Amino acid sequence: MADGECKTGNNAKKVNLLVVTYPAQGHINPLLQFSKRLHHKGAAVTFVVTKFLFNNQPNSDHPPPFPVETISDGHDAGGFLSAVSISDYHDRLKHDGSQTLRDLIRRKENAGRRFDAVVYDGFMPWVLDVGKEFGLRTVAYFTQSCAVNNIYYHVYRGEIKAPVVAAEEEIRIAGMPPLTMADMPSLVQVGNPYPVFSDLVINQFGNVEEADWLICNSFYELEHQVLEGMENKWNMKPIGPNIPSFYTDKRIDNDRDYGFNLFKMNNEVCQKWLDARPKAAVVFVAFGSYAALSVEQMEELAWGLTQTNFFFLWVVRETEAAKIPAKFAEAMADRGLLVPWCRQLDVLSHESIGCFVTHCGWNSTLEALTIGVPMVAMPQWTDQTTNAKFVTDIWKTGVRAPLDDAGIVRRTTVADCILKVMDDDGGTEIRKNAAKWEELAKRAVDRDGSSDRTVDEILAQLVSV
Ligand code: UDP
Repeated sequence: MADGECKTGNNAKKVNLLVVTYPAQGHINPLLQFSKRLHHKGAAVTFVVTKFLFNNQPNSDHPPPFPVETISDGHDAGGFLSAVSISDYHDRLKHDGSQTLRDLIRRKENAGRRFDAVVYDGFMPWVLDVGKEFGLRTVAYFTQSCAVNNIYYHVYRGEIKAPVVAAEEEIRIAGMPPLTMADMPSLVQVGNPYPVFSDLVINQFGNVEEADWLICNSFYELEHQVLEGMENKWNMKPIGPNIPSFYTDKRIDNDRDYGFNLFKMNNEVCQKWLDARPKAAVVFVAFGSYAALSVEQMEELAWGLTQTNFFFLWVVRETEAAKIPAKFAEAMADRGLLVPWCRQLDVLSHESIGCFVTHCGWNSTLEALTIGVPMVAMPQWTDQTTNAKFVTDIWKTGVRAPLDDAGIVRRTTVADCILKVMDDDGGTEIRKNAAKWEELAKRAVDRDGSSDRTVDEILAQLVSV
C-alpha cells in the first residue's frame, strides 16, 4: 500500500482511530509517534491524554497533526504527584478514565464521528473493555521490548515464579538468553519496593486474548529470536522503532520532535555547546523522565565523569538537581554542561556525541540503537535491567556498569566504562555493531520494511471490515 492510503479501490474508507496513552513521557512519545505513522498512511487519528498533562505541557513546537482530546485521571489539577499513593492514582485513572473515555466516544459519535478501532497502551487494559462496549476493534500497544513483555507474560501465566530470587540456576525462556536475577525486570525481582507497579505490568495480560492485535515498539530484526520463541504461545507484532521520522526514514515532513513534551527543552543552549566540541568527543548522560538516583550514586557519577578527559552533557532534571555535589560546577569548568532537559534525539544525533550513559529506558535504548550511539548501561529499575542485558550481550552495542556490594556504580567504574566504549581500539567492535543496528532499525520503518509492512497489514484489515 502506498503512503497516504489506507483506502481500497472504490470502497475507499478512511480508518478512524482513537489512540489512548498512559500518562508518562516514555509512553506518550512512542504512541504519539505511532499515531503520526498511521496519520501519514491516511488514517484519521484522535489522540487521547489526561487532562492534567494536556494542560501542563510547557512545549509543543511541533504539535501533532491531528486532534488531541482528554480524559480524566481523577487528578485533573495535580496529576500523578497529587495522588495519595500509586495505587490510588491507578484506581482513579481506571475509574474516571473509563467514564470520561465513554463520554468522549459518545460525544464524537453524536457529532458523526464513529471510530473503527481503539489503540491503547497495554498499561491500561481497561480501555479494551470500554472499546468493546462500543463495538470497536482493539489494538494493544506495548511500549516495552518484546523480551520484557514475554517475561511478564510468563509470570502472568505462572510459568516463571515471581518474585525471582538469586539462584544458582538461570531462568530459561525459549528464544531468550539465560537470565540471572539481575537481568530480570526489577518489578519481578525479590525485594521490589513497588508491588503496585508489578501488578500493573503483570495485569496487562488479563484480557490480551480479547484484543484484535498486540503490537509493540520494537522491530523484527532486533528481537527475532524472542519473537520466534513466543510463536507457539502468543503473537505480538513489532511495529517500531516509533521515533520521529527525521531520524529514520524521513518520509514524514517536519517530524523532528515527538511533539508532546512534559519538560521545558533547552535546545539552543545544547546545540551551541555541542557545535563547539570536536567530533565524537562528548559523553551524553541522561536517565529519562522518571528515575531518581540516590545522592551517593549522583556523587559517584559526577566525579566519574570528571575522571575521564571527555566532554559531557548531563541531563539533571530539576527534581534531581539538589543531589549534585558542591564544587562540581567548579570542577567540571567548561568540560561539562548540565541541563534540566533537552531534545534527546537532537543531542544523540549530534556528531560530537561519542557515547550515551543511559538508564536504558526502552525509548532511550531504541533511540540510541536507531541513531547508532554506543551505550554505557546504568539501569535503575523496571525493564531497564533487562534492556541493559540485551544491549551488552545480544546487540553488543555497549557495556553495563557493574554495581558494587552496596548497589552503587563507583566513580572509577563510571570512568572505566566510558573509556571502554569511547576507546579507539576497545570500542571499535561496539561502534561497528551500533552502525549495523542503526541501519536495520531505519530499514524496518522505511517503505516495505518489516514494521512498515505490519502497519499496512493492520490498516488493510481495518479497512476490510
Ligand atoms: N527525553 C528527552 N529529553 C531528555 C531526556 C529524555 O527528550 O532530556 C526523552 C527520550 O528521548 C525518551 C523519553 O524522554 O523518548 C524517555 O523515555 P525512556 O523510555 O527512555 O525512559 P523513562 O522516562 O520512561 O524512564
